[in-house]
Amino acid sequence: MEIKYEAVIGLEVHAQLLTNSKAFCGCSTQYGAYPNTNTCPICLGHPGTLPTLNKNLVEYIVRMGIATNCKIRELSTFSRKNYFYPDLPKGYQISQYEDPICHNGFIQIELQDGTLKNIGITRIHMEEDSGKSIHDLDIDSLIDLNRSGVPLIEIVSEPDIRSSSEAYLYLMAIKQTVMYLGICNGNMEEGSLRCDVNISVRPIGQEKFGTKVEIKNLNSFRNVEKAIEYEIKRQIEEVENGNLIVQQTRLWDANKNETKIMRTKEMAHDYRYFPEPDLLKVKVTQDWIDESRKYIPELPLNRKLRLMNEYSIPNYDAQIMIEDKSLADYFEKCCVELQSKNEKNYKLVSNWIMTEVLRILAEKNVSAEKFDLEPKLIAELVELYAEDVISSRIAKEIFPEILATKQSPRKIVEEKGLIQNSDTGFIDEIVKKLIDANPDNVEKYRSGRNNLLGFFVGSVMKETQGKANPKIVTEIVKKYLEA
Ligand code: ADP
Ligand code: MG
Ligand code: ZN
Repeated sequence: MEIKYEAVIGLEVHAQLLTNSKAFCGCSTQYGAYPNTNTCPICLGHPGTLPTLNKNLVEYIVRMGIATNCKIRELSTFSRKNYFYPDLPKGYQISQYEDPICHNGFIQIELQDGTLKNIGITRIHMEEDSGKSIHDLDIDSLIDLNRSGVPLIEIVSEPDIRSSSEAYLYLMAIKQTVMYLGICNGNMEEGSLRCDVNISVRPIGQEKFGTKVEIKNLNSFRNVEKAIEYEIKRQIEEVENGNLIVQQTRLWDANKNETKIMRTKEMAHDYRYFPEPDLLKVKVTQDWIDESRKYIPELPLNRKLRLMNEYSIPNYDAQIMIEDKSLADYFEKCCVELQSKNEKNYKLVSNWIMTEVLRILAEKNVSAEKFDLEPKLIAELVELYAEDVISSRIAKEIFPEILATKQSPRKIVEEKGLIQNSDTGFIDEIVKKLIDANPDNVEKYRSGRNNLLGFFVGSVMKETQGKANPKIVTEIVKKYLEA
């Protein structure tokens, strides 16, 4: 009998925090500064210097802990994780080990079929980033320590993920949550969000987990998915061939589309963790936690479900709206404007945003936050269309002018005489002339060439420069053709 396997996956995600200064010194965290200018004796690891904890780091991680339903430890400590690498000037990284500040939480993901699944969060802890080694220049290796000491949070999931698509959804949920909280910019290309994948396989029905392999160097969502799919296949083949899976760290090679061995897995004891003697325990009181709740906005999945419910838009539309918080804000502002005019066609707003607005944002490469068109103008345009005052073609045609002049769409339509003609007598006359002038096509239509309806409707629209109400045109054309 053929054995079926399932994958068991846990993710470790590092998020770089948007604090102005580093975790344990006052240096700037600004990305892209000239190499080694954002440094001081503390983050360069000079002997005799002492770290001071950045309060902002604690504020941000507590918000993340609350947003992911974690318990927040009243007292937690820092530890030293010792290893040697040129980008780590102290020879150790300040991290948390035994008592991470946040633990035992979960985050919800929405699976393709709409069901919700909880992915457990084992722990979220604070640590500092290392510097950057630069090997790819045609000279000696170089070192840039601007990143040394930049604050990170590490979010460790339970092994609750079962497929590459679940991993994708989980990572997306983490990314959106840190972005909604405003604590990380979520940029995987710049390395502000980094993800290591732990993966094992087991025969379906077996309770015990298989031996896990860790994959590093995943700098995009696509690579996370591809690496998982590759690794599941590789591990199943190994097991089927009677080989043991060895616990190891592998690297994803995005050019060859394969994982390759980097080293056999190091164990916690290799790092000789011990308590950081230069920092006090971190104390988080209940009052502090209560105060922090004020900074937690409605989170992405909740917002999506509410948008679907409150504005009756499809799941697909709501997903696009919430992908960027500022776009969801913009959508809701347009809807509120419509509401104030007793118009309820919110689906027209989401259509308009998904097509025209997103296209312009993509062209300008900005987010909705920087979109300088008042939501009430979009609402007015949608209203004109919903009321049959203009056709969708005219709406699209005048949109560039609305954008350029910020003028009221109603005024533009009136001034340019673009109001849709719904005068049935007027339309009837044009249709009648067209029918009389095209007896051949009428004959063909009647003998079954239904697609000629488009020819007649199109001709009327052309004749009226797009101003005839297309619904009425279609009705009248049909009336004549089917007479
Ligand atoms: P380590 O001590 O090797 O770093 P951890 O217990 O800290 O291992 O787990 C690291 C990550 O690996 C977590 O996200 C966890 O969910 C995941 N993980 C643990 N065991 C397995 C397994 N057998 N298969 C897949 N993932 C696992
Ligand atoms: Mg670990
Ligand atoms: Zn510094």
